[in-house]
Amino acid sequence: MDMSVNKKSKKTATDSNEIISLNNVSKAYSTGAPALKDIDLHINKGEFVFIVGDSGSGKSTLIKLLLRELTITSGEIRVMGYDLTRIRHRKIPKFRRNIGIVFQDFRLLKDRNVYENVAFAQRIIQKSNKEIRKNVPSILATVGLAGKYKAKPKQLSGGEQQRVALARALVNKPAILLADEPTGNLDPKNSWEIMKLLEQINENGTTVLVVTHNREVVNSMQKRVVTLKKGVIVSDEEKGGYIDED
Ligand code: ADP
Ligand code: MG
Repeated sequence: MDMSVNKKSKKTATDSNEIISLNNVSKAYSTGAPALKDIDLHINKGEFVFIVGDSGSGKSTLIKLLLRELTITSGEIRVMGYDLTRIRHRKIPKFRRNIGIVFQDFRLLKDRNVYENVAFAQRIIQKSNKEIRKNVPSILATVGLAGKYKAKPKQLSGGEQQRVALARALVNKPAILLADEPTGNLDPKNSWEIMKLLEQINENGTTVLVVTHNREVVNSMQKRVVTLKKGVIVSDEEKGGYIDED
């Protein structure tokens, strides 16, 4: 009996499920010590992963590499099947359409209302007005903001503004959602609500990566936790917790 065939097909199935893959990735900026050193990170479709670590440990650099805002110095990085070292410049916008991103500081258009902030993301990818009129109210309902579609950002609380940012990140139905300290400007109650929304989005099939300093959230949500320290992955645990740093 040839057992090796079976083994081989198993490995292929695992590989095809991988949506993010970093092998021996280093990233050095022109000044200072390398921001990331020899990183190996493999994330499957549908995973929820927390990225934690002290300020300066390389978390945002990792997010920027995944978006192909930055290029790696050495190693190999693949996202959704794209080799990000070889991807053509003209293909980058199409690649990014499949990634939603939210930041600590919301980054909404201040002079546009909630509806327009979300519709904007759909206009960029040339969705028809008919689709926009269907998709925007639907995603606003998902984030609990159906009644606020006419409000301007300054009329909203921080938690509500982050929900708008989340709706904007999700309206184009990305395969991956990246969140770089999404609760950094929010109080504990709003932080929890945003995290619960991220969990719900993940349960609907989106792969979610969340950079956070919120140890209560990380410890109680029981997700995979990747810990960076000075540009190195020092732990990667299923159902992990927040590791204390001194
Ligand atoms: P984190 O998000 O974990 O706080 P960053 O990825 O922002 O960390 O930064 C990692 C390291 O890279 C830090 O030492 C930081 O000073 C450095 N760094 C970040 N961005 C730049 C840049 N544009 N030029 C030079 N060094 C940078
Ligand atoms: Mg950062």
